[in-house]
Formats: sequence, C-alpha cells, structure tokens
Amino acid sequence: MREKPASCAGCACESHGTDFSAVEGTGSSGVMLVGEASGEMEARDGLPFRPYAPAGSVLQRTFQRMGLSREQFSITNVIRCRPRNNWLEGAPWEFGAANHCRANLDSAIAERRPRVLVSLGGTATRELTGMAGDAQGVTHLAGYVLPSIGVETSQGTRAHFPIVPNFHPAYLRRGKASHQGVFARILQRAVNIAKGADIAWMWNVDPDSKETHDALSYRPRPTAADIAAFTHHVLGNPQLVVSYDLETDESASLDEDAREGFADTHIRLVQFAVEGLGAIAIPWEPGTIPAIAAILRSPNPKCGHNVWLFDNKVLKAAGTREGCEVTPRGVIHDTLAMFHHWQPDLPAHLQFAASFVQFPFPWKHLAGTAIEFYGCCDVDATLRLYKMLEATLRRDLLWGDAHTGYIGQVYEVRPILAAMEDRGMPIDDAARIRLGDEFEKAQSALGEELSVAAGAIGNVHPKNGYVRVPKDTTGMIERVFTDIDDDLQEHQVTRWCRVDPFNPNSRPQVIAYMRAKGHPIPKDKHREDDQGENPETTAAKELMRLAAKTGDLFYLKVIEYRGMTKLRGTYVDGFAPGPDGCVHTTFTFDTGIGQLSSRNPNIQNFPKLKPTPALAKAMRKMVAARPGHVLTEWDFKSCHIITLGFLAEDLQYMRLGRLDMHSFIAGHFLKLWDGGTVVNESDDELRARFKWLKQDAERKRVRDDQAKHGILGIGNGLKARGLYERYMENFPPRGCPVCGGTGRVVGARATTTRKCYECKGLGMQSGQRIADEVLEIAERLFPKVFAWQRRIQKVAHEQQFLRTHFGHVRRFYEVFRWDARRHEMGHGDQAEEAIAFWLANIAFGHIREKLKELAAAGLDSRYGLFNNVHDSFMFHFDARDLDAHVREVYPILVSSSKVLRHPTICPDGLVIDVEGAVGQNWADMSEINVKEHQHAIHA
Ligand code: URA
Repeated sequence: MREKPASCAGCACESHGTDFSAVEGTGSSGVMLVGEASGEMEARDGLPFRPYAPAGSVLQRTFQRMGLSREQFSITNVIRCRPRNNWLEGAPWEFGAANHCRANLDSAIAERRPRVLVSLGGTATRELTGMAGDAQGVTHLAGYVLPSIGVETSQGTRAHFPIVPNFHPAYLRRGKASHQGVFARILQRAVNIAKGADIAWMWNVDPDSKETHDALSYRPRPTAADIAAFTHHVLGNPQLVVSYDLETDESASLDEDAREGFADTHIRLVQFAVEGLGAIAIPWEPGTIPAIAAILRSPNPKCGHNVWLFDNKVLKAAGTREGCEVTPRGVIHDTLAMFHHWQPDLPAHLQFAASFVQFPFPWKHLAGTAIEFYGCCDVDATLRLYKMLEATLRRDLLWGDAHTGYIGQVYEVRPILAAMEDRGMPIDDAARIRLGDEFEKAQSALGEELSVAAGAIGNVHPKNGYVRVPKDTTGMIERVFTDIDDDLQEHQVTRWCRVDPFNPNSRPQVIAYMRAKGHPIPKDKHREDDQGENPETTAAKELMRLAAKTGDLFYLKVIEYRGMTKLRGTYVDGFAPGPDGCVHTTFTFDTGIGQLSSRNPNIQNFPKLKPTPALAKAMRKMVAARPGHVLTEWDFKSCHIITLGFLAEDLQYMRLGRLDMHSFIAGHFLKLWDGGTVVNESDDELRARFKWLKQDAERKRVRDDQAKHGILGIGNGLKARGLYERYMENFPPRGCPVCGGTGRVVGARATTTRKCYECKGLGMQSGQRIADEVLEIAERLFPKVFAWQRRIQKVAHEQQFLRTHFGHVRRFYEVFRWDARRHEMGHGDQAEEAIAFWLANIAFGHIREKLKELAAAGLDSRYGLFNNVHDSFMFHFDARDLDAHVREVYPILVSSSKVLRHPTICPDGLVIDVEGAVGQNWADMSEINVKEHQHAIHA
C-alpha cells in the first residue's frame, strides 16, 4: 500500500481513506480514463481499476475485446484513495474529497496531456464537466462529447478538454452486462477523437443565437413564410420522411418518453424535421393549425419518438376537443420502438438513442429554458435516428416481414394493441369496492395473528410507563423501564403501560421480534450508516432467507401483510373504471424478451393464488362481463414446455408437456415411479398416473411448487442456486430423505452408524439441495434439453448476440467468463439470460403470430379481444355469440405456425393446443368444451 502524501492533510477522507494510487498507463492513445476512487484491490496495489478487481475486470475484458492494451490509456480516479467501505457517491465526504483531490487530477491531466478524457460514472462526469441534475446523469450524457470545466494551464489560462461520459464499469458488473457493447463503443469514440478521426460534436451551442440556428438549419421561431415554405416542401415531396413531435405544457417537467396520452393535454408547439429543410417549431395557434394539419395528414412517411403512445393520442384528443383533424396519416414509425427492437436492453429515451447517431450535443436539459430550440433538437435527432435505425435493422436482419422482426412483431402489432386498449377491461365496480373490504378484513386478520405471535412487541404508551398505578389496568401490561433518579443514577422500575398491536410495517418492531427470538438480524450490504456500518434490514428477500433459515413462518406473514397494502392500492384504487365501465391499459414492448407488458394499470398481472386464494379470487371477480355478455379466456397449454421441446428437438419432452410434465417429474422425484420406464406407457396410462398423483394434497404440492418451478427454471436456464433463490418459498428445507432426519445412517458394518452423507449430519436437506435434485432428475430424463441449453449458450457466446426465429435480438457479452480460481471458463452474468431469452421470445412470438391472425380475420373486434396475459387471450362479447366465437377463434389459435417449422418434428409448423374457459367474471370460469360448441353449430 502506498503512503498518502502530505497534501492529503485536511481532506474529508483523511481519517479513513487508505492508499494513494498512482496514475497508470502510458496514455499513448491520447485517452485518459477517470473513475471514482480506489476499491480494495486498487488500494492494495496502489493502482486504479485492477484487472482482477470487480470493476477493473470489466474494463480489462473490454480492452481485450476491442484489441486495445491497457497501457495505451492513462487511468486514474477523481479521488486517489479508498474511502471507507468503498463509498464515495452520496457519502458525506463526497464533495469535500473530490474538491481536495482536484489538484491531483489536474496535475495528472497536465502531466499526461490527454487529447480526450472518458469519465466513468456519474461522479467523474460531474467533476469533469460540471454537469449534474435533471437530464444530466450518465444515461443522458453517455457517448456525447462535452467540454471539460477547464484546467489551469502553465500560462494561467483554462484549457477545455473533450470529455466523453461513459457508464461506470461497476454498474456493468452489477447486472448490466448487456451494456458492455455500448461501453466499448463509447471508449472507441474517445480513441477516434484522440486520433482526430471524429470531430462530430458542437460546443458553445447557444439556443438563442442565429448562428447556432443557421448551423443546424433550425427555425425555432418561424415566420408565416417559413411555415408556408416548409409545408410546401413536404407536400411537394411525398416520398420524404417527416419527423414530428409535440411540446405540451408538461414538456419541461416530464420525461416525454415515459408519458402516455392525456386527453386534456394542451399542445404548445408541433415540430417537424425533413431532409433538405432542417427543423421547424410551429406554435399551436388557430392561424398555424391548418399548416400543422396539412403536414401531419400528408401522405409522407413519418417518424417520431414515442409517438404511438403519446403524441398521436394527444393529437387525436386535441383534434376532437378543438374541432380540427390532426391525427397523423401515412406510415408512422416510432423510433423508440425501433431503437428498443435493435437494443432491447439499453435505455431508449431520445437523447441516449441519439448518441448512436453522434448527435452533436445533449439538449434535454434545455426543456425549461429554450423549449422551441429543444423541440427542434427533438425532431432533428429523431429524423437522424430513424434513418440509422431503418438501415441498421435491415442490415442486421431485424427489419422483418409479415410475421417477424420490427415490422411483423412490433409495427403491425401496435394498432391491434391500440384497439385492445380502447375496448378496455370490463370492471364490476361494486365488486371492486367489495374487494377493498376483503383486503381490509384479510389484513386485519393477518395483523392480529402477527400481534399474537409477536407478544408484547409494539409501540408503548406512555413512553416511560405510568409513574403511578392506574385505577383501571384493563388491557395494560407491566414492563421494566429505565428511570433516572434525583442523583442522576439509572435504575430499573416496573410500571404499567399500554402496548399497541404489533405493526408489521415497522422495521424496528420486526427487528425487535428477531432479537426476542434470538434470530440473526440481516444487514443491508448495499448501504451504510454514518458509522460506516451496514444497517439492519427487514427487506423481503432477507425475511425470506431468515424464514428458510429459522423455519419461522412469522417472517413470510410479515411480507404478506406488507404486500397487501401495496396490492390494495394497485387493484382497488388502480382499477377504478371510466364512464364506459372499463379500465384502459397501455400495452408496451418494454421487455427485453419480446413479451408484451401493460401499465396504468397493469392488467396482465392478476395473481391466481397470492396473497391468499380468497383474495386472488375476489380480485378476479371484479373483472366481469356486462349484462348479457360473457368473458372467455383461451390459454396456450404448456406453451413454454412445448416450445422448448420443439427447440431442443425432443419429441418426448413435447409429448409430456402436452400430457402433464409437472406430474411426470414430481412422480419421479417422489420415487413413485421411474420416469425412464413409465415414459414408454401409452398416453392414457400416463394420464391416469398423473390424475392419481394430483389426488393427494402433499403430492400435488410437490408437483405445483417444486416440479413446476423446476421446469420453469429449465426454461430460464437456471442452475440449482438460481432456481432456489428465485423460488425460495417453494423450496423449504425438509427432513433428510436418506437418514430420515436423524443425521446418521447405518455404517459399513451394519451394527454401527455414521454421519449421513446427504445432510452432513444435520437431519435436514436444504432447499437448494432439493432444487438441485429436481434439476438432476430433469437432466437425466431429458438430456437433449440440457444439450440444447449448452448449444444456445455457445452460440450466444461466440456471436455475442442471439437473433430468434421471430426476428428479435439480444446482445450477450458475459455468457461465459474465465474463472481464474478454477482455471476454466465458467458461467458469466448472462448465461441464464441467453437461454431464457431464446425460449421466451420464441414462445411469445408464436402467441403474437396468433394475435395477428385473429386480427387479420377481424375476430379481435368481433369478439372484443381486450387482454393478452402471458400465454392467454381474453375476450368480452355478447353471450349469444359464444358458439360462433368458439367455432371461429379456436381453429385460428390451434393453427400451425408459419414461422416455427422443423423438417421432421413438425414439417407443417408447430401447433400449440389451447384450452378455453367462459364465465360472467374472471373468478368463475368453466371449461369450454370445443366439440360441444362445434356440435351446436352443426345442429
Ligand atoms: N472504481 C473506481 O471508480 N476506480 C477504481 O480504480 C476502482 C473501482
């Protein structure tokens, strides 16, 4: 460890910061990398970002992948020491230490004379550029080239260096391995700048100056003649792509990429950009609306960022409100959806996305001060982005066709989703209000149960007990309090007091329970208090661990109680219907796996069993058909299992998926049969076995909890540890099956016993071991599936991306990683993700294919399709149409895939069967017998 220099005296980190790291590397590339502060290994070696340290190893792998050497860079940190517990960002000493160490940073820059600096993370970006605050964090600035705040030169002037902000490698290390591509790209930009090969940036952008406007071809305050010329240009060139965007009264306060349509939103400006004429911001006024309408309703292809979910809805509403027709026409592409399709794991907001087209400066922080200029930047950036994305999606085979890619899976699906949103989910408001009461009852019953278990833990009144014995002590208890007498001596006194019921939402009370029970108190390893200690925590994950460790279900009930408060808000308040009796969600393509998601409210997330089966039922009950109508739900049966069998080319896996894979595995796990033998039985024989297995509650529990989650885990590429951690509550420890819980087994000589090898003498088998066993069984029975998993990982590792049959892509940089301790390649952060993505995307792609077929046949509107929950579709229509509904919808759902084909397994395309249910409300649905309805038609 290197000694700290005398200049460290007076620094906020003086008392606890260890080491003083040197600046590393020759800097021959002209690039200096600036991190935050040393970590443990950096402090030990006296150098920044050690190649084997957590953050440094990410940097090192990036250098290797890019064919660059570490030596080519100068590497240093904002502060040279290691602060207590590696804590700088947000620490009380952050600003003091950064200021104090500024001289060291300045002298490193003066000495190494880099041509460009890369700031790694928020702290370094702020220190080097002076930019911080709204829209000025790393995800907004990454990849841009900004002027440094200035460094003192020997001539006494201040020099400005180009700073290129990048993500901190530790951020990539903590679950953002998918950002490694963009991280490397930004590093490469810095190298290019240092070589003089990239000069595509602008400083000194003045939103009010004519020179700036002319340089960029912007008209933030156009004249009537400007507006007329622009309109004429667009209408005269119908092949030109026009980008458009709105600024509203909320523009300065909301991130527009996250906004959704607001019917009463007031439009301030409408901006356009088109090739040849640059950008224009037209105020929304009676005199300008005709020109705005003419451009929006022109046949020109159009693009906008988040226009599908925001701008188009606002325009439609404004048109209705103000009596003008301004709904955009022509082909409309949404660059947010396009960018997400290309880079599903990266942030998709406009400024970040625009860094990929080297937009010359960041502008999102100008919303409050220069809205017209800001608006011009928005449309200019969008047009540039659109052009790049169209070319890139085509180049990367992601543009697609009628079934696949951005066109088949996103662009053509959006209008179907918009119609589903408009139809809405029907809600029985009286049932919704009753649900509120149910929640209250369930929560108070659970609260009482917890109070009894917690005994006298609760808030005490009065705080120090009653000094005199109260006349009536009913409902009170006696407690020992510490009192201070007249001589200022502490002594213990017993007094009467009241104790409030136990409050499960109170962290100190839950911790008091742990203490009273002698249970270990979990610590939050990601936070620190003023003393540098990890604070005690009652976070759900930790309570779950504690319950597993101690066998005390109290902790699981605390989680359940806390969850109820949130659930009540979500389901009771969040599902208040509009005047049409429905809630209207917004469907999005936000996930990385190509699954649809839904928000405000999320109508895809109705639990079947949690928090209690009765409450789950009451929640579903409020989703109810209007009088004379019915709801139907069509569920693709074992969709993920059959898709997995198809992908792994394992016919047996597909067959068992159709029959009941979970029972098959559970029976083998419980040693009720040998899977390898019974698999040869006929379908009917197996069905009889599975039916029998489900008749017993305990056998069914093993099936539903362990086998089901084990199979889910296989589809998600989980290993035993991951499986156990994800579904911990389903894998409680059990008595060891080898020693029967005694911890001893018969020894070699039959007369002696020895420690049980399975449970190491503990008598209990851990949940993780059970998860391990379920996976071992699955691997023995279905080797092809596990071979498939390995194949997918290998492809993802070698290509660094996976592109599925449905034209979705995801990037993978950390599937395998060199394990220095074992001297072999081991699983990296994305090993599981690769498998999970491949399977889920293909299964959801199949469902989306069917969604489009329903829409193409007009069945979505005829039968009121309003929801797609994971593997199922929900409809709401006139009860008299049920026979016709079944006759028309069923054949489309079970028709063969046009995309998923295999020369021997399914030459005509994969078929996934569906089961239907019908009812007045979602809680009381009965099975649809398809044959009966078909018969009814013929009769
Ligand atoms: N994190 C940093 O910011 N710098 C280092 O040197 C190591 C970890």
